[in-house]
Amino acid sequence: MEKDIIIIGGGPAGLTSAIYTSRARHSTLVIEEKAIGGQIIITTEIENYPGFPKGIMGPELAMLMEEQAKKFGTEIIFDSVKLIDLDNKKIITENSEYKCKALIIATGATPSKLNLPKEEELTGRGISYCATCDGAFFRDQVVAVVGGGNTAVEEALFLTNFAQKVYLIHRRDRLRAEKCLQERVFEHKKIEIIWNTIIDSIEGQESLRGVNIKNKITGETTFLPLDGLFIFVGYTPKTEFLKNIVDLDENGYIKVNNKNQTSIPWIFAAGDCVLKPYKQIATAVGDGCTAALSAIAYLEGY
Ligand SMILES: Cc1cc2nc3c(=O)[nH]c(=O)nc-3n(C[C@H](O)[C@H](O)[C@H](O)COP(=O)(O)OP(=O)(O)OC[C@H]3O[C@@H](n4cnc5c(N)ncnc54)[C@H](O)[C@@H]3O)c2cc1C
Repeated sequence: MEKDIIIIGGGPAGLTSAIYTSRARHSTLVIEEKAIGGQIIITTEIENYPGFPKGIMGPELAMLMEEQAKKFGTEIIFDSVKLIDLDNKKIITENSEYKCKALIIATGATPSKLNLPKEEELTGRGISYCATCDGAFFRDQVVAVVGGGNTAVEEALFLTNFAQKVYLIHRRDRLRAEKCLQERVFEHKKIEIIWNTIIDSIEGQESLRGVNIKNKITGETTFLPLDGLFIFVGYTPKTEFLKNIVDLDENGYIKVNNKNQTSIPWIFAAGDCVLKPYKQIATAVGDGCTAALSAIAYLEGY
């Protein structure tokens, strides 16, 4: 099968690109390895995406984006991209191969996990990887943030807008975050830092009850009752198959210019897989639009 434009990934970035490219009458194929919607289908209520003043459930937003892309002729197939043949502009998947004139990579990123038992089953039931998204559900409650980098510290500060108490659990005796952020955390009355500590195990059945934390120096384990646990130990971009194909940074994020073009002229990238500071639906959608318009300009030679 040959298409003008292939988009890898059917999350918000990929679906936005598809809306633009298929509406511009370029034959468009989206290849998605799991489920249309990407990370937003594991999200419950989305309250910060414009146009939905009452909020919208993640899976519903995904369905609407899919419907809009299909309306203009986008085709979607379920398959996993394994390789890109640069010389022949071929996209090689687990089950087949496809040719294209331009490619948009929108494979997203997955929040890094602690990899503890119960972590997955309690995600969305007290455990979250996104304070901007879920913080408001913890008004006047007790939450903990895990991590010590900029994101963890910024998100701990953000959570003080809602929670009555925010623990910051960090495995070392100092934070990695920028000094100005550290100062704000140290001064904040709602934040208590628990140093040299890791999460040993997670407790809860239907929803999170708390965590057992272990002091790395004394070896002592104590139970910390919690309503919410926010894990910010980094993101992992889904770009393993792009090594030696396009320029990546040391963490695997795709480097793009301000037109969302990669180091290869016919390959564009959008969304959470791209090197950028903020990872939200609105920023993914913005990238998806830019990448699509750039791909269209590339194909039409202007
Ligand atoms: C729990 C949670 C709650 C969130 N809540 C909010 C919120 O309320 N508001 C907000 O703005 N943001 C929220 N976010 C962040 C938001 O979901 C992401 O920023 C957004 O989904 C990024 O879109 P994307 O299209 O770049 O990537 P993704 O959504 O990650 O989609 C990428 C897609 O590519 C597919 N893919 C990856 N590799 C391949 C491959 N090799 N072949 C084929 N397909 C592939 C994946 O399966 C996935 O479907 C939340 C995130 C999480 C985890």
